[in-house]
Amino acid sequence: MTDQHTPRAPADASPSAEARLVHAGRRRSLGEAVVQPPVLATILASLGEPGAADYGRAGNPTWAALEDALGAVEGATAVVFSSGQAASMALMLALTTGRDKLLLPSDGYYNARVLAERLRPHGAAPVFVDQSDLTGIERELASGPAVLWAESPTNPLLRVADLVRLGQLAAAAGAPLVVDNTVATGLLQRPLDMGATASLCSLTKSASGHSDVIAGAVLTRDAALADELRGWRTLGGGILGPMEAWLALRGLTTLPLRIERQSTTAQAVAEHLAAHPKVAAVHYPGVDTATLELARVQMPRGFGPLLSFQVAGPAAAADAVVAAARLIVPATSFGGVDSSWERRGRWAGETAPPSLIRLSVGIEPAADLIADLNQALECVPARG
Ligand code: PLP
Repeated sequence: MTDQHTPRAPADASPSAEARLVHAGRRRSLGEAVVQPPVLATILASLGEPGAADYGRAGNPTWAALEDALGAVEGATAVVFSSGQAASMALMLALTTGRDKLLLPSDGYYNARVLAERLRPHGAAPVFVDQSDLTGIERELASGPAVLWAESPTNPLLRVADLVRLGQLAAAAGAPLVVDNTVATGLLQRPLDMGATASLCSLTKSASGHSDVIAGAVLTRDAALADELRGWRTLGGGILGPMEAWLALRGLTTLPLRIERQSTTAQAVAEHLAAHPKVAAVHYPGVDTATLELARVQMPRGFGPLLSFQVAGPAAAADAVVAAARLIVPATSFGGVDSSWERRGRWAGETAPPSLIRLSVGIEPAADLIADLNQALECVPARG
């Protein structure tokens, strides 16, 4: 018997991403904890030349465990940050150096646009593009060194971008492609396999899944970029606390179970809303016939927990619907086990239609959610 117990898959099969996710980052010497404990120490014993984790701003064993697990899912190196936005800022700073432009989706997560604008004096000029306008993007890429920043599905309109084509356009222009993969997570969609240089994920959402931790990560197969990101993290100090890393790791272990259930429920809810007389439009990859085939290729395991819909009425009607829910929690963010929703236009800077409600489907049974939706939508006056 050795003192190292490493769970093994059958000799003829390498473990799936899901199996690796459960076991990654856990040291299992006999007599040691089977689960990764949070390591709260800010200093680790060290002598001589400093290494990667002598001081807690440069490294921490709990982050390392989380990075191993995230890396196992996407077959890449993960660098974790204190939030999705901290990860975005490090990526923008690292990639825009020496480049003129940062092309961003005009309808993606609005704080990415706000951040890019704030960084204008320090980085490349932001240019907002329609992700479906491949000719326009090609033209922008041809007119100077750029970074292409994509998001798919987008928040909050759930639009699906053709990531392989965007990867080809970026590669032809020598531009790095970043994909914000927060909505799908690396379990449903693998941007690095489709030509992305970096895959960004706010772990605050589905990856952690319990609405109790703010965290972010960048996944990349480019060792120099990973080093550069670690450098920005150490010097900029956008580090993840060990307790948050531990919570994120614990949540991540059940991501496959949660997100498969949530994807199935979200599809049922989206179909129900699409047939509802008080609903003017539904946005979900599974009910958008224009991109359904593309979505199936890019996300073969499901489309995730997030959908949005427009109430047939003004913004005030959408506000009344959100307030009328008995089960669905009125709150922002998404990807948690509890269903939640908000009228997205309540945020200054968000460009979503005024009557759009963004719904994050939790792990409750579909029938309960549909019953709550039906009773909440009753407050919308019937159109004459
Ligand atoms: N990317 C997307 C698509 C998001 O929806 C969010 C947050 O809502 C972020 C990035 C930023 O993540 P965080 O809130 O963890 O900073």
